[in-house]
Amino acid sequence: MPVSSSYRPDPRFMALGPEFSDPVEPADFPKTLLRRRNDRAAATVGLEALTDAEWVAHFGRFEPLPGNQPRPLAMRYHGHQFRSYNPDLGDGRGFLFAQLREAGADRLLDLATKGSGQTPWSRQGDGRLTLKGGMREILAAGMLEALGVPTSRAFSLIETGEQLARNDEPSPTRSSVLVRLSHSHIRFGTFQRQAYLDRADNVGVLVDHCIDAYFPELAGAADRPVALLEAVVARTARLVSRWMAAGFVHGVLNSDNMVVTGESFDYGPWRFLPRNDPNFTAAYFDHSGLYSFGRQPEAAFWNLQQLAGCLTLVAEHEALIAALNGFGVAYRDELRRSMLMRLGLRGRDADADVDLVNAAFRALQAGGDRLRWEPFFFDWFCGDERRALAGPRGDLYADEGFADFRRLLADFEPHRPERLEHDMFAGPEPEEMLIDEVEALWSAIDADDDWGPLNAKLDRIETARQAWDLG
Ligand code: AMP
Ligand code: MG
Ligand code: MG
Repeated sequence: MPVSSSYRPDPRFMALGPEFSDPVEPADFPKTLLRRRNDRAAATVGLEALTDAEWVAHFGRFEPLPGNQPRPLAMRYHGHQFRSYNPDLGDGRGFLFAQLREAGADRLLDLATKGSGQTPWSRQGDGRLTLKGGMREILAAGMLEALGVPTSRAFSLIETGEQLARNDEPSPTRSSVLVRLSHSHIRFGTFQRQAYLDRADNVGVLVDHCIDAYFPELAGAADRPVALLEAVVARTARLVSRWMAAGFVHGVLNSDNMVVTGESFDYGPWRFLPRNDPNFTAAYFDHSGLYSFGRQPEAAFWNLQQLAGCLTLVAEHEALIAALNGFGVAYRDELRRSMLMRLGLRGRDADADVDLVNAAFRALQAGGDRLRWEPFFFDWFCGDERRALAGPRGDLYADEGFADFRRLLADFEPHRPERLEHDMFAGPEPEEMLIDEVEALWSAIDADDDWGPLNAKLDRIETARQAWDLG
């Protein structure tokens, strides 16, 4: 038996029928070289016992998993890309492969692909993922998980032996197929497609599906679409606040890249901030800075408005607007919580917390080019002033620009989970992920086929994750 007792298939998306997806064939790759298997993620869905050969058969050749979907399904969706509506989206290089229950938590999880071949929604695209793109998705997902951001996990990366042409990379470049484990792939754009087709019935089907599969606590709600929107607003507020505290710029916050469960996914041109800069953009094609660091809350809210618009087919405007308007308060609340979490502090009252968080942002600003994002949180973790001043950036913190932050901080208590005692300060420097390092990891792989630096980096992120895992 290649699967363990915690393997519980639950392929319920396919039950929605042919108006929501299309059965597709995976690409027949010339090679399948296993590059990364995430056994910790696999253990959460009972797949950790697969041999490497079985792993490749399922996640490189896409032989169905027992009791799961008989065929891969390319999901249908539309979406706004940089605010322009595109009715020609959909899974163009991926599909939903399987659905499973999570061990312990009992959430419904998806195994879905990126780079698994062409589909009816590929348009001019080759349906493929570059190996570099696969590596970048692994890094982003790993780092975000370690920083407490709700995220999809990179489950498997297999190199596939093709030569790809890309405009933004020296061509040809190596190919891969990625499998991600995520809590739903129901995008805002999944609703948008049904609304665009004027299918109020199918918008209702999606509302019911989301509640059944992802928000069972809303089953008895008097107004299900409004209750769902409230829940999505809350999840999205939490997600965006966690990105901000992590210093993460997703880069492509189109409405097809946001899911109802509020996990981030689809890591393309992402970047972590080198330093505090609201105008920092990640995607080279984001010419107007629409998805810059500081505009991420606004981008998420704009997408939520589109989702609410779809729900007007099945609910009253006023109640939807009220739900939508909860975003601002929820976001500010969550940002406070996220920043305190990163600073390792126990909250006091809302006003004091807000003052401290504002002072932290001003301090990060005052640090300018001399202070990167991650070291600030590392140095000041648990508000330990002695440690911060004794560290490599101690001189900087003596500057006037940090005075407010230090003064306010004095009134806060540390909030340090048990585990952090050992792990958090083990290294002399925090784990970061700046673009130069990512490029260096890629050139070791591309030039020398040396996977050592990437694996070492992922091991260090895993150590940081264990330290930071605030439960
Ligand atoms: P993204 O901006 O990565 O979220 O993708 C937007 C749309 O383009 C989605 O419908 C993708 O499936 C599709 N797409 C992206 N890259 C490719 C590709 N290489 N081949 C086919 N479709 C693609
Ligand atoms: Mg996408
Ligand atoms: Mg993409």
